[in-house]
Amino acid sequence: MAIAAGAEIHGREALIGWEPTPGGGVRVTTTRGTYEAERLILSTGAWIGDHAPELARLAVPERQVLGWFQPQDSAPFALGAFPVSIVETRFGSCYQFPVFGVPGFKIGLYNHLKESGHADALSREPREADEAALRNVIREVFPAADGPTLALRCCLFTNTPDEHFVVDTLPGLPQVVVASPCSGHGFKFASVMGEVLADLATTGRSLHDLSLFRLDRFAAAGARP
Ligand SMILES: Cc1cc2nc3c(=O)[nH]c(=O)nc-3n(C[C@H](O)[C@H](O)[C@H](O)COP(=O)(O)OP(=O)(O)OC[C@H]3O[C@@H](n4cnc5c(N)ncnc54)[C@H](O)[C@@H]3O)c2cc1C
Repeated sequence: MAIAAGAEIHGREALIGWEPTPGGGVRVTTTRGTYEAERLILSTGAWIGDHAPELARLAVPERQVLGWFQPQDSAPFALGAFPVSIVETRFGSCYQFPVFGVPGFKIGLYNHLKESGHADALSREPREADEAALRNVIREVFPAADGPTLALRCCLFTNTPDEHFVVDTLPGLPQVVVASPCSGHGFKFASVMGEVLADLATTGRSLHDLSLFRLDRFAAAGARP
């Protein structure tokens, strides 16, 4: 849809850096070239701290592992029989899904083994300890799903101190919009975040109340990562 509306998408082209220009715009340098523009939107997920230092200690990557397990009996875990759900357990909050699209009962543990660090330093390779952490939950809460492991996948949350998003312009740089809409719950907001970022970049304001997502809220709250 973006391309149909005239957007130019450059895949496999990494942002290296950017700087404000005297005219109130930006100059962006990538692995393939340099661009000048009036506005810049930075939404680089777990790497946002590399591109907006103001967020380096406020949007912190954390390693997550999801698992798909083969239930002994799939019927109780089928779509329609099993809810998309979050359960509070002694191991922490786990989130799970009915068998849908790919084989297996999908489950994750919020904050998993609490491994934080730079996005490039966190392993994307699942380990035995990851599987064991998920299987502990399964054995206690969903014993009927305690079957063979089908798949394990690693990815990253980008957590803020209060687990709310950051959506704002950079201090003193209204031409640069930054977005860290994650803390493990940003996917469902993708469409409205797209709308908000487009409005902030084109009109400088949004129809939505963004006060919860202000960057300066942390300074005000004396929040630390
Ligand atoms: C295990 C797991 C389960 C989750 N479950 C849910 C859920 O059930 N519901 C929900 O709502 N959310 C969920 N989330 C959170 C959701 O996935 C994130 O909040 C969302 O993907 C954040 O979107 P984003 O656009 O900010 O970041 P991303 O989707 O990470 O996009 C950032 C993009 O920037 C690119 N990038 C980084 N650096 C550069 C660079 N230098 N140059 C160019 N490009 C760059 C990256 O390659 C990436 O494609 C989950 C996340 C995880 C990890």
